[in-house]
Amino acid sequence: MTALLEARQLTKVFGGGLLNRRRTQALIDFSLRVDTDPPSITAIVGESGSGKTTLARLLLGLIAPTRGEVAYLGKTFQSMSGEERRAFGRDVQVIFQDPYDAYNPFYKVDHVLAKPIKNFRLAASRRHGLQLIEEALEAVGLRPEDTLGRYPHQLSGGQRQRIMVARALLPKPRLIIADEPVSMVDASLRATILGSLRKLNREFGISLLYITHDLTTAYQISQNIIVLYGGSVAEAGDVELVVQQPNHPYTQLLIGSIPSPNPRHRWTARRSPTDAGALAATNGSCRFVARCPYAMPRCRELHPPFFQTDEHRVVACYLHETAQSTSVGAMDEVFVR
Ligand code: SF4
Repeated sequence: MTALLEARQLTKVFGGGLLNRRRTQALIDFSLRVDTDPPSITAIVGESGSGKTTLARLLLGLIAPTRGEVAYLGKTFQSMSGEERRAFGRDVQVIFQDPYDAYNPFYKVDHVLAKPIKNFRLAASRRHGLQLIEEALEAVGLRPEDTLGRYPHQLSGGQRQRIMVARALLPKPRLIIADEPVSMVDASLRATILGSLRKLNREFGISLLYITHDLTTAYQISQNIIVLYGGSVAEAGDVELVVQQPNHPYTQLLIGSIPSPNPRHRWTARRSPTDAGALAATNGSCRFVARCPYAMPRCRELHPPFFQTDEHRVVACYLHETAQSTSVGAMDEVFVR
């Protein structure tokens, strides 16, 4: 079966030119496959500098990879016809972190909802367009009478972001790439937005790539998770396995850093150096070596391959060398469907 969206060993290096000689490997050998069926939710988790935003931009065709390629329904961006590019623009929608950025403060919010209707010629008449907008708003739990006709500043951050979810829904996409969609929204409203995203997946059959620094919301919403560190995949697979029994020292560190709501449990975040220069110094070694409490001499020589530790999980760490070593492409084969 042809994949809906496929990333094949994507690598992105910034710099190295005349103006900026310092080379930064933002993403290394990243592969991912999103199938058309069943619709899935995959979380891509990493801290600042992990490569997740670069990945989102590569998947959307906003920047070109240094190596590797992205294919939509088997066609790379370079080989797509104009019509296929338009189909990609309609089928793959994006929700960004800051909902306010998408609005023009001088226009009512109706304007951002009318745009996709016009751009993708979704409605046969004005009345039909309004009906589509109202249906999309209701699908994300907003009442059209409380939303339409207002200016962005008259709505809460949560409402503004839910309008963005409604806008992404309008063209009836097959995939939504949500880049930190709840990070600028009050904690009390996060659950509502996550609920709207989950509804798009379950009721409308839309697959989601949920990009976040927040392991907790990733756990709440996704079936599969990819943990990125320094542009490389540290661990990937079934979200239950990865979060409940993390194998990679970095995933363990991330989970150890989540404060416990139980006051009798002390916060036991394990600290390790976070020197930003550490990454630049890895030079082909394990990307996590400067922060890893278990680092061995060989970790400094070569970045580890993937080891398949469970049916639904791979981990890039020599501590799991007894498990079967496997290829980069195996990452998405371990995903639960
Ligand atoms: Fe740590 Fe080595 Fe595993 Fe990297 S490969 S995470 S440095 S033990």
